[in-house]
Amino acid sequence: MASERTLSIIKPDATRRNLTGRINALFEEKGLRIIAQKRLQLTQAQAEAFYAVHRERPFFAGLVSFMISGPVVAQVLEGEGAVGRNREIMGATDPKKADQGTIRAQFAENIEANSVHGSDSAENAASEIAFFFSGLEVVG
Ligand code: GDP
Repeated sequence: MASERTLSIIKPDATRRNLTGRINALFEEKGLRIIAQKRLQLTQAQAEAFYAVHRERPFFAGLVSFMISGPVVAQVLEGEGAVGRNREIMGATDPKKADQGTIRAQFAENIEANSVHGSDSAENAASEIAFFFSGLEVVG
């Protein structure tokens, strides 16, 4: 499988609990390389734009207010099949359904405050990486 890049976000529930380093260690132990990373406070408009695909969903307003409730860490992960690999490392959206050892099984508080975001396709990864990073900031 070819080397790929994916966009990851460590969400406010995890930065609040000082889990950035533990989550990053899991990515690195499981073969993904962090090739760009920055901590930022999203604005409401930025969070709405990032999650625009979910704008009709009943949880949209709650998701946006959660995502702006504290700092996030946006990052680009690189490795073999990075999009799918990261989805495996993250675990299911609902931590009650996430496999043991996944980030969400270990750290998520609930289905909304679930510690991490990861792109769900290579195509979405490219646009989500461009949302947060310029080409100069991604050093593979
Ligand atoms: P993901 O790809 O596993 O992050 O899941 P989705 O793309 O379906 O949803 C995006 C984010 O919206 C999730 O990571 C959760 O933070 C939130 N979310 C998804 N489903 C629900 C839900 O049923 N209720 C609430 N409150 N939040 C949800």
